[in-house]
Amino acid sequence: MNHDLDTRLLHIGSAPFDPVTGTAPVNLPSMRTSTVRFENLDRLQETVARRMKGERPITYGRSGMDTHRALEEVFNALEGGCYTCLAPSGLAAINILFMTVLQAGDHVLISDSVYAPVRNLNNALLSRLGISASYFSVGHDDVAALIQANTKMIYVESPGSLLFEMIDIPALAKIANARGLVLAADNTWGSGYIYKPLDLGAHISVIAGTKYVVGHSDVMLGAVVTNDEALARRIFQTQYAMGNSISADDVWLALRGVKTIAVRMPQHAKNTLEICQFFDSRKEVARVFHPAWHKDPGHALWQRDATGSNGMLSIELNCSPEAAKPFVNALTLFGIGFSWGGYESLVQWVEPGSLAPHTYWANNPHAVIRLHIGLESTVDLIEDLTQALGKIQNWDL
Ligand SMILES: *Cc1c(COP(=O)(O)O)cnc(C)c1O
Repeated sequence: MNHDLDTRLLHIGSAPFDPVTGTAPVNLPSMRTSTVRFENLDRLQETVARRMKGERPITYGRSGMDTHRALEEVFNALEGGCYTCLAPSGLAAINILFMTVLQAGDHVLISDSVYAPVRNLNNALLSRLGISASYFSVGHDDVAALIQANTKMIYVESPGSLLFEMIDIPALAKIANARGLVLAADNTWGSGYIYKPLDLGAHISVIAGTKYVVGHSDVMLGAVVTNDEALARRIFQTQYAMGNSISADDVWLALRGVKTIAVRMPQHAKNTLEICQFFDSRKEVARVFHPAWHKDPGHALWQRDATGSNGMLSIELNCSPEAAKPFVNALTLFGIGFSWGGYESLVQWVEPGSLAPHTYWANNPHAVIRLHIGLESTVDLIEDLTQALGKIQNWDL
């Protein structure tokens, strides 16, 4: 039976019945192990032979046990994929992707609104390995014209990391397919639940499970998902070579966290639209960046390509970044910190320097504040935001 995604997410990872007692707990336990024991040598040889054929039987703790396989199924269900490679963090998943697709001499085109550590990966590692990267602005640049003879991949994050600009993945997929390139997308924003790059034409989707999949700010985890068997084989080979391993306890927490994504995500989205409305009514706020907000320039693309929204929004305040600091410090319900996707509200004072490479940014001297709207009461959140706005002294109105 092809059940709805919400139903499947609840039933993946149910513990099987014990053949002796005929009973089972609801959830698969966290299967911690380093060594996997084999019943006899025949079973061991059978397993090794299956692995040689490209299957992924249980062989050793590093490549995961049943708990891990259940979470792989969760990511496949979320992303509409057939193959999931788990990673110890979202950034590790991005690394596996880059190390799988690219080799010395290759070039990758990256959208300029990506998550900043991707630029660091490029500077710190890719360049040393003889892999070159250049950045493009979706909506401004003619991407096809930027493809070089050695370009192997187009890598995007949609919506973008700080200002949530929507990217037209189907249009990029046409370009990538015409030139035989891999199109990969960071889908942490959608986490498969509200946005599906593979369905839109991307070949690989990477997700920081750390965010909405886990949903409780207590685990680092990532995944690389694809439908392409040949790419999947290369992804698993790369993962195996790199020696990453993911704790069964972390996997178990992710399995537990994702059970409530169907109620968390719409509630984050609903709260966030209320906060957008609040900011829209305030003269101190020059602009609200959130694709589900009807005034966002990406709204039409969001309506076409996404099935929901989440708790991420940014605002441009009519003051300098320096003048906005008292606002951030005065918030009591918003934790000052990076990351997002947990149940709680967060605030990030965006470094002006990190906006500079984003073509989407108007390059004005105003402050940008990124917020994650949690599951708190919006009455309380709005009261907190209102008192904090009152702490800004030097408005540029
Ligand atoms: C957080 C994040 C990552 C990295 O995830 P970690 O688990 O923190 O390594 C990657 N991409 C995006 C868009 C993110 O927000």
